[in-house]
Amino acid sequence: ENWPEIKGEVEFKNISFSYKDDEKILEDFNLHVSPGETIALVGETGSGKSTIVNLLCRFYEPNSGKILIDSVDYRKRPQVWLHENLGYVLQSPHLFSGTIMDNIRYGNLEASELDIIRASKLVNAHDFIIKLENGYDTEVGEGGSLLSTGQKQLISFARAVLRDPKIFVLDEATSSIDTETEKIIQDTIQKVLKGRTSFIIAHRLSTISNADKILVIKKGKIIESGNHSEL
Ligand code: ATP
Ligand code: MG
Repeated sequence: ENWPEIKGEVEFKNISFSYKDDEKILEDFNLHVSPGETIALVGETGSGKSTIVNLLCRFYEPNSGKILIDSVDYRKRPQVWLHENLGYVLQSPHLFSGTIMDNIRYGNLEASELDIIRASKLVNAHDFIIKLENGYDTEVGEGGSLLSTGQKQLISFARAVLRDPKIFVLDEATSSIDTETEKIIQDTIQKVLKGRTSFIIAHRLSTISNADKILVIKKGKIIESGNHSEL
């Protein structure tokens, strides 16, 4: 099916969520993000930052409330629609057994090998890939077990960039990447996020200083918000 291109507006409306029956992680959580805005989520460990973006990626469904993308409840669209419009790089990135090439392509059948190499170069994954004995044809193992976490993050990043989505989620996306590579891809991240709605969770201040808005999360609530100079 051909859906119209989205602008990338995101809205959390009265979201409540718990992983287990007895423990509400989010309660009546509300957030409006305009197309193209970069939002950084900060807050102590366990405060709910990943939970917020996990719901947006639809890894879990809210108990109540809605998540709207361009004013449409995402549950009214098939999973593939979200896939096309939202790219993510997670703290513990998930790869499936298959080659590096397969993992970057990930259902994106229109992408040529050249597109994949281009995306990999952009995020600085190409260098380590071509050093492997089988290059892009290297098998990553069950869940990517034959690669380091940093390498898996770079592959996820290439996969996300390849899709060219309007919404980007980076949850500690560079946490396991060495400082040298991190420095190099920092510029790329800024470039890639331009014109896209993005949610960034990061401990390194450098990663979030360019955000339009920084939200401080505590026990599933936004307790402060402002830009870098205001906070
Ligand atoms: P960190 O900075 O450590 O990544 P976070 O702000 O991302 O923390 P979340 O991962 O969203 O925090 O966790 C919020 C709460 O939900 C915590 O109390 C955590 O223990 C709980 N939680 C997270 N994931 C699960 C899960 N899969 N099952 C049950 N509880 C979970
Ligand atoms: Mg987290």
